Amino acid sequence: MARLKRALKRVAKNALMLVSAFACAILLGIALRSTRGEPGRVSVQHQTPREPPSVSETPAARTQATCHGALKRAGVAFRVIARGQAEGVAWPIMITGPVGGVRIIGAKSPEWNNYLDCKLALTLLAWAPYLREQDVVSVEHYSLYRQDATVAGTRKPSGHASGLAFDLASVELRDGRKLSVLTDWTNRKRGSEPCTKDARDGDAGRRLRQLVCDAVERQLFQTVITPHYNDAHKNHVHLEIGPPDQGFVH
Ligand SMILES: [Zn+2]
Repeated sequence: MARLKRALKRVAKNALMLVSAFACAILLGIALRSTRGEPGRVSVQHQTPREPPSVSETPAARTQATCHGALKRAGVAFRVIARGQAEGVAWPIMITGPVGGVRIIGAKSPEWNNYLDCKLALTLLAWAPYLREQDVVSVEHYSLYRQDATVAGTRKPSGHASGLAFDLASVELRDGRKLSVLTDWTNRKRGSEPCTKDARDGDAGRRLRQLVCDAVERQLFQTVITPHYNDAHKNHVHLEIGPPDQGFVH
């Protein structure tokens, strides 16, 4: 009887150790997942819970047809691009008119630079009311789609390779003023927090920064790279949708 008790105790102890080891492995996995990022990138926790969900998680973004339907209902003029012309983009389109009352301006040539995934267009549509609230009438980008774009310093495809990223160069206000990332994003100390109020910012810089920080706060973009990150981003802010576990990059 005593032997049986000892044997049972041993089995219970081993089971407990196994369960603990398993729990540790799970916790370690979660920890690694949350800290994994691009080399040299700094991720920070979102300040607010993930509410509302990102646009890519809404019913309109469920299929290509629902996405096209949502744009049409909102009066967004666009052209569907054949998949073969935009390799890597799941639902390629090109916007040909204002989005939610805001003009989207990009280089006329090459045309493919203006292709984007329909889900990014939905995000711009969701951003438009906030842009208009802040007197923005147009947003200018340097690039949307670039087939071979990779994340700097890696071979990992960038969001541009799938038409999911928007390189914001400047915005124009109702009174004709232009706010440019290159000239108005004045505080750009490497690695510093982009969304704190900084006395060195003039009115233009403060408004521009506010636009970007509001968009991040509202979960419109999940990966954001500002002039705080590196020289390659001195004249634009990279705004990318998904994957949801990336974060804000300074
Ligand atoms: Zn970019």
